[in-house]
Amino acid sequence: MEIGSLLKGKTALVTGAASGIGKGHVEVFARAGAQVVAADIQEDQGKAVVDAVNAAGGDAQFVRLDVTRMADWKAAVAFAVSAYGQLTTLVNNAGIYHPGGVEDETEDGWNRMVAVNQTAVWYGMKAAMPELLKTGNAAIVNISSLYGLIGSPGSLSYHATKAAVRLMSKSAALEYVKRGVRVNSVHPGQIRTPILGNLTAELDAQIKAAIPMGDMGRPEDIAYGSLYLCSDLAAYVTGVELPIDGGWSAA
Ligand code: NAP
Repeated sequence: MEIGSLLKGKTALVTGAASGIGKGHVEVFARAGAQVVAADIQEDQGKAVVDAVNAAGGDAQFVRLDVTRMADWKAAVAFAVSAYGQLTTLVNNAGIYHPGGVEDETEDGWNRMVAVNQTAVWYGMKAAMPELLKTGNAAIVNISSLYGLIGSPGSLSYHATKAAVRLMSKSAALEYVKRGVRVNSVHPGQIRTPILGNLTAELDAQIKAAIPMGDMGRPEDIAYGSLYLCSDLAAYVTGVELPIDGGWSAA
């Protein structure tokens, strides 16, 4: 699909960029003309993503960023500004999943989920905001989940964090609505990435059967939604939640 120069002049920082949906964002944003800072804890994989993007004519650089560490965030934002002179766009995508219901989630599991999926989204917005404000025309996309919109049994901490990201996005959208920073959340349904682990054929079939479109999505399906929200086409769009889920949330 031709996406031309929708993000020309933008500099985007994407977290969780070494794999899955984050990798999809780096590839799609670079194709759309953005300068991309790809951030992850997986250094070799992240560098490989950047190398492939640059070999295809894009402009991307890798930075190591553990999203749970504010010091890493400050360094990553500084890196983006020193590399490209500005930061216009932030995609808070890094995330983890593990199952765990009311009784079997552990305190460590709960705290880890909150640290990576929720607190880190605040850290990212906090660390990037001074640079985003300087541009007068910036956008943040926070990757939540369909599981931030609806419940399911056995994934309590994941739902808690993803639901929090939804309202953190709307609250930040209103806080900055007159200061040139738009904030929106994207809610993927089931997307085929390593986070799903090794699915048995039976579970794979069960998941597909639950999706109205009959199949899981691809990372780029999510990145195309973020592409719109981060582009000037969405200049009047802030505080929205965009499910990209093959119709699941409509059912
Ligand atoms: P993924 O393939 O596992 O990619 C996530 C990336 O983030 C990995 O490279 C991971 O590294 C990295 N990461 C984990 N903890 C980090 C940290 N503390 N700091 C920096 N990077 C870290 O997962 P994905 O499916 O692309 O998920 C991306 C986002 O989409 C997540 O927020 C997820 O909750 C959301 N989402 C996914 C789906 C889906 O069906 N795939 C559905 C709804 C929402 P490691 O490999 O070392 O963990």
